[in-house]
Amino acid sequence: MNTTCLFCKIIAKEIPSTIIAETDSLLVFKDINPQAPIHYLIIPKEHIVNIATTTHEQRQEYSSLFIEMAYHLSQKISGAQNFKLKINNGKSAGQEVMHMHWHFLAGY
Ligand code: AMP
Repeated sequence: MNTTCLFCKIIAKEIPSTIIAETDSLLVFKDINPQAPIHYLIIPKEHIVNIATTTHEQRQEYSSLFIEMAYHLSQKISGAQNFKLKINNGKSAGQEVMHMHWHFLAGY
């Protein structure tokens, strides 16, 4: 855990969030400022800044975990069969929270 990281505090339940799904490795919660009727954030429980800072092993692990979770959400959540996945990687690409996350957007 990174004690200054907003998403680490959400994982630790120090900051409230609306949790949609949780596994040993991932947390999914509602985005506080939704850009679509359904807007969730999928994040790793370990603190990883973004794709650029990952190891080969992390890329292997999380690529399948994230896609499996997106698939699971699309099956489980009503209206989420059609969805977008978005990753902002780095400040100039729009990343504001420096804890790797995928935006899951659906319900258009
Ligand atoms: P990004 O710009 O890709 O770093 O996305 C960060 C996202 O985190 C934005 O869509 C914010 O609305 C969202 N966000 C910021 N603070 C919170 C929070 N406390 N709970 C849920 N989502 C948040």
